[in-house]
Amino acid sequence: MSGFLPVDSLDSPRFCGLPTFMRLPQASVEDVLDAAIIGLPCDSGAPYRTGARFGPNAVRSMSVMLRPVNPYRGNLNVFERLRIADAGDASVVPGYMQATMDRIEAAIDSLVRRDILPVGIGGDHSVSLPALRAVARQHGPVALVHFDAHSDTWPGYFGGELYSAGTPFRRAVEEDIVEPEASIQIGMRGSLFRPDDVSQSIDLGYEVITGDAMFDLGMAGTAARVAKRVRARPVYFTFDLDFVDPSCAPGVQTPEAGGPSTRETLTLLRALSAMNVVGADVVETNPLFDGPGQITALLAATVVHEVLSLIAAGRGASSGP
Ligand code: MN
Ligand code: MN
Repeated sequence: MSGFLPVDSLDSPRFCGLPTFMRLPQASVEDVLDAAIIGLPCDSGAPYRTGARFGPNAVRSMSVMLRPVNPYRGNLNVFERLRIADAGDASVVPGYMQATMDRIEAAIDSLVRRDILPVGIGGDHSVSLPALRAVARQHGPVALVHFDAHSDTWPGYFGGELYSAGTPFRRAVEEDIVEPEASIQIGMRGSLFRPDDVSQSIDLGYEVITGDAMFDLGMAGTAARVAKRVRARPVYFTFDLDFVDPSCAPGVQTPEAGGPSTRETLTLLRALSAMNVVGADVVETNPLFDGPGQITALLAATVVHEVLSLIAAGRGASSGP
């Protein structure tokens, strides 16, 4: 069914051509798609290291390493099940949060209005808020599945600034665009600003599985908790690369020691049951701080492929090949 297949790297070398995500076709406005990759190259929300504006193209560049078949989900070929193309980047206004958020919301809105599931590549984590606004306009308040070393539910920064990479999931509750009672945050660890940094998420209604709790539960046990929390609700899936240990993902805004390895991270993502994903993003890849071999960008691209696989698994019955 799909006319939207990646270039086959057995036919054409990976280093040839325009680096779209996984060498997918570039989307046109008239394309009928199930999902679209969209770059969200904003780092105006970064309280610490800037540079995530270069994230989307760094992730696209390393995504040429990926192959279409996912052996961890029964040899699922995502592109035989879903029509996916690369929609390019949302426009941003560097240094201007409000204008940037408006543009990201409009770009995501133009996809969801056409029933195209947006899969964003960040960008700092502030991009999730305008994306959630657009997705919730279509689907109502969504269940948030959030992987991160940090809760990103702080009230404000630097004298009460409301919009940054540290605040989107408090704003989203205030704006009634996520349903915290169906939402879960996984991976929080490290030192705190104040003792209530974790409980502030619980006070908002989120379930929180800290990094330590995740290791106690195991990856399969953690995945089971996610499924139990979200059930059949529409899900917005968001993955911050700083969830992963800095030894495996150094290229992030706010590294946090003591996280899961690349392998543990992928084991967890591959253990997730199919869910009704209606929007997703993979954020905080900062190539200016990446290690040799662009390991953070490679992992981010791999996470995006796992997210696409999760989406395809969830669409198995309704739009299979
Ligand atoms: Mn974050
Ligand atoms: Mn984080």
